[in-house]
Amino acid sequence: LTYTAAERRYERVPYRRSGTSGLDLPAFSFGLWQKFGTDYPFATQREIILHAFDLGITHFDNADRYGPPHRAAQQNFGRVLAKDLAPYRDELILSTKAGNPIGPSPYLRGGSRKSLLTSLDHSLRDLGTDYVDIFYHHSPDPGTPLEETVGALVSAVQQGKALYIGISNYLPDRAHEAAGLLRAAGVPLLIHQARYSIYDRRPEQNGLLDTARRDGFGAIVYSPLAQGLLTDKYLERVPEGARAADSTFLSPDAIDETYRRRTAELNKIAAARGQSLAQLALQWVLRRPEVTSALIGASSTAQLDHNLAALEFPELTDDELALIDEHGIH
Ligand code: NDP
Repeated sequence: LTYTAAERRYERVPYRRSGTSGLDLPAFSFGLWQKFGTDYPFATQREIILHAFDLGITHFDNADRYGPPHRAAQQNFGRVLAKDLAPYRDELILSTKAGNPIGPSPYLRGGSRKSLLTSLDHSLRDLGTDYVDIFYHHSPDPGTPLEETVGALVSAVQQGKALYIGISNYLPDRAHEAAGLLRAAGVPLLIHQARYSIYDRRPEQNGLLDTARRDGFGAIVYSPLAQGLLTDKYLERVPEGARAADSTFLSPDAIDETYRRRTAELNKIAAARGQSLAQLALQWVLRRPEVTSALIGASSTAQLDHNLAALEFPELTDDELALIDEHGIH
């Protein structure tokens, strides 16, 4: 079937400026970390990607590592790009990352020039595109001089293989240092990707969001639903097919009595607002102006519809935020 994008796709999701750059990102971005490899039906993956674009989610986040096996998520995205989204390439913000291990070779990990630039070339082949919009160093590599890593990222832009540069999982000091080096090279840091949710507040506690504001880069925050823990689905049991049942990245051990008690309290706060816990958790990360975009995953189009409806509720009040703190902080 031929795909035509929804005509009114830009009426739903607000777009937010990434730091002091010129680039807007949708308030929700879509990540292909889980269930976009060979472990899930391609027809469903395609349907989710196209539905996301129809909703106004222009930004799709990938990495060389995402699968299983590694690289499969980008290859699957590449199939959708070639078949369905090619006419809309100018409207897409595609990102990829390199640096987390994808094999035993010393050149398939880390922050060396060799690792980063060969991974990017391979990712462009996987995705079937000449350039990505954002190229990230996936995690800091203390064993490689930051100058080498930053130099490779700058080269990617100079070679026309990436339009913007991001870093991920860097602590604030190193992020600040990277931002300085990138600025000096004429390639300002666009964005930092960090984990942030009601259950993981490190970016606001360790000063990362402050650093983002001061250095003028955006923050795109991953796992805002704590991989699904900030929904009501695990309150009674671990449903079949859910990430905690299937994935090595979310252990069912995370779902203990303490988790259930805290989550049930948060669920009540959401219910009092007439919304779901997922919707509340997404509004919570987006309340911070430094946060450019909430980077979500989904295993169905229904989850996407449900989560985007978070945009329709009034902002969280100070009283509600205080209550969320009471139950959300460990
Ligand atoms: P989320 O916290 O949004 O978790 C998404 C998962 O929660 C879904 O896949 C689904 O899993 C479940 N879910 C979503 N909505 C609902 C709902 N309404 N009701 C019930 N369950 C729901 O984000 P992710 O952890 O998926 O991370 C998002 C993206 O962030 C990744 O794809 C990746 O791009 C990026 N990321 C980056 C990292 C980095 O190091 N830079 C690390 C991790 C992620 P299911 O149905 O399968 O249970």
